[in-house]
Amino acid sequence: MISFVGAGPGDVELITLKGLKRIEKADIIIYAGSLVSEDHLKYCKKDAEFYNSAHMNLDEVLEVMKKAEHEGKSVVRLHTGDPSIYGAIQEQMDSLEREGIQFELIPGVSSFTAAAAAIKRELTLPGVSQTVILTRIAGRTPVPEDEDLVSLAKHKASMAIFLSVGNIGSVVEKLIEGYGSKDIPIAVVYKASWNDEKIVLGTLEDIEERVARAGIKRQAQILVGDFIDSEYSLSKLYDKNFSTGFRKAKK
Ligand code: SAH
Repeated sequence: MISFVGAGPGDVELITLKGLKRIEKADIIIYAGSLVSEDHLKYCKKDAEFYNSAHMNLDEVLEVMKKAEHEGKSVVRLHTGDPSIYGAIQEQMDSLEREGIQFELIPGVSSFTAAAAAIKRELTLPGVSQTVILTRIAGRTPVPEDEDLVSLAKHKASMAIFLSVGNIGSVVEKLIEGYGSKDIPIAVVYKASWNDEKIVLGTLEDIEERVARAGIKRQAQILVGDFIDSEYSLSKLYDKNFSTGFRKAKK
C-alpha cells in the first residue's frame, strides 16, 4: 500500500494521528526533504528505508513506489502541509492508477492555516471576507492568465500566496494594482510552526522592505487582506440574539 501523507507545516505534532501511524509502520519513506522536517523520521521503524525526493525526479520516485509494491512493502510518500496543495501528487497518483497500484491520501495541516494561526487571525471574518483564495505567482510553473494576482486582488478576499516570497516585489506591485491602494494589511510568515518561525507584519506600502530586512527569501506564506487588521461584525453563530440548531436565543 502506498500512502500519500500530509506532514503538516513543520512542527511534528501537527501531523494527523492517522499520518503518524502510517509513518510508524512504513517500510519505505519518501519525503520532500526541502520542506518536511527530519524530526518526523524519528517515528519510523529502525530498519525503514529513506528516500529524499528533493534529489529525485518523478520517474525515480515512481520506480521506488512500484518496486516496493511488488515486494509487498508499505510506502509513505510524505508531503509538506497538505498534499493536495502544490504537492505535484496528481502525476504520481495517475501513474500508480495506470499500473493498478492501490494508494490512499491522508490530508495534513496546510502552511496557510499554520500561518493564520501564527499571526492569531481568522481568515473568514464576517463583514470583511467570507472567501479564501490560495494562489501563487508564476515561477517555473505558469499561472493561468485569468488567475493573475491583479484580478484576484480585485475580489478583496482573504488571500494566502504560496511559493512567491522570493518575488515579493512583483507580488506587492500586482496587489497594489488590484486593490487600488497601498493601505492593505499583509503578513509574511516564514517557516510557520517551526522553531525558527518569523512573522513580518506591514502594509503593501512597506512589506517589501521589511521582508528584505528580515532576510526572508523562501519558505514563507504571504497572507493579505483586511482580515489581518480591521473592524468586523460579530458572528451570528455565537450571537446571543440568534438561535442555532444547537442553542436557543436569549429573550
Ligand atoms: N503542500 C504545502 C505547500 C507546498 S508548496 C502546504 O499545504 O502548505 C511550498 C510553499 O508552501 C512554500 O514556498 C511556502 O510558500 C509554503 N510553505 C510550506 N511550509 C511552510 C511553512 N511552514 N511556513 C510558511 N510557508 C510554508
